[in-house]
This record gives sequence, C-alpha cells and structure tokens, in this order.
Amino acid sequence: MADTDPLSGLANRRSFSRKADEWFETATFQNIPLAVEMIDIDHFKEINDTRGHDVGDKAIQIIAGCLKQIQEDQKVYVSRYGGDEFIVLYLGLSVEQVKAKAIALREYVNQASKQAGIPMTIAQGITHHKVRPGNKIWDYTSRADIAMYYAKKSHPNAIMIIDKRSDLDHPLYAD
Ligand code: GH3
Ligand code: MG
Repeated sequence: MADTDPLSGLANRRSFSRKADEWFETATFQNIPLAVEMIDIDHFKEINDTRGHDVGDKAIQIIAGCLKQIQEDQKVYVSRYGGDEFIVLYLGLSVEQVKAKAIALREYVNQASKQAGIPMTIAQGITHHKVRPGNKIWDYTSRADIAMYYAKKSHPNAIMIIDKRSDLDHPLYAD
C-alpha cells in the first residue's frame, strides 16, 4: 500500500520515481525513446470551492479511471504525482504514438467527466526523445513540467510537446 495512492488507486510518486529510474536505464541501454507527460486539472480549486471537497475527490478518481485506460504493460505507466497533478511514462513509443495516447486521454476525460456531471479540462505537457549523454531522468520531468506550463498558458485541453525538433522556448503545439 506504500506504493499506491489511496484516493485514486494509482501508483504514487514514490512508485513513479522507481519506475522512472528503471525505464530510464532501459531506454539508455536499448537506445529507444522515453517520454514523460505531466497532466494537471484546470481550475481544480474551483471545483473544490464551488462543489465541495468530495466532488473534488471524485474528479481525481475520474482522471485516474481515464489514465488506467491508457496504461499498457512495459510501455505506459500512469501515476498520481500529488494534488491535481498526474505523471505518465512512455517507453519505446514514437512521438506520434505518445501524442495519440494524449489525445485519447483527453477524449476519455471529456466523456467521463461530462457523464459524471463534473465537466473538466486538463493541461498536458510531454517531453519525448532518446536518452542523450549526460541526461538524467530529471531532464525529462523538468521538461514535461515546462511543456505543461505552456499548455496551461495556451488554452484548456491543450497538449504541448517538447521533442528533438523543438527548443524549450518553442514547444511543439499538438492539438
Ligand atoms: P490551474 O487551473 O492553474 O491548474 O489551478 P488549479 O485551481 O487547478 O490548481 P491549484 O494548484 O491552485 O489548486 C489545486 C488544489 O487541489 C489545491 C488543493 O487544496 C486541492 N487538492 C489537493 N489534493 C486534493 C485531494 O486529494 N482532494 C481534493 N478534493 N482536493 C485536493
Ligand atoms: Mg490544476
């Protein structure tokens, strides 16, 4: 249970950290791409403030259910980072495959949240590339965070990608 977040049933930050180290090594030795995606619920505080903490909790569970739908053994690892933030690892997927997963997730969230009567949008920030000499897993998580920041600034439900074609000041827009 120390590895699971009780509210969402997802892997917690500690489990994420362990898996991230493991997949970083695999990506390095096999010379395959690794991607990290950061997800944050838009205006989550408003859901808590206007509808109460229980509805806020339900909103987190809805996102968790959607994330479980994109999880895949040895390829896609989903977890709750904390609060209204979630983090996903992708091992060996092309940037197009990761983008398709992000679009699917957005669609699941759109449908499930409407169905539950708690309409929500999310911001998604992705970084994708092969491991370069000197890289640390931190390079991935920090870039995913930067991409998420740009997504948040852009519009609700935006997906931003930083990959080998982009520089940090110009993440690729992937909508
Ligand atoms: P933004 O659109 O910029 O993402 O803002 P936001 O309101 O989504 O995010 P902010 O970081 O301002 O607020 C997140 C809130 O989430 C603050 C905290 O009280 C609440 N929160 C954190 N964990 C939980 C939880 O487990 N359940 C509930 N109901 N609320 C939580
Ligand atoms: Mg938020």
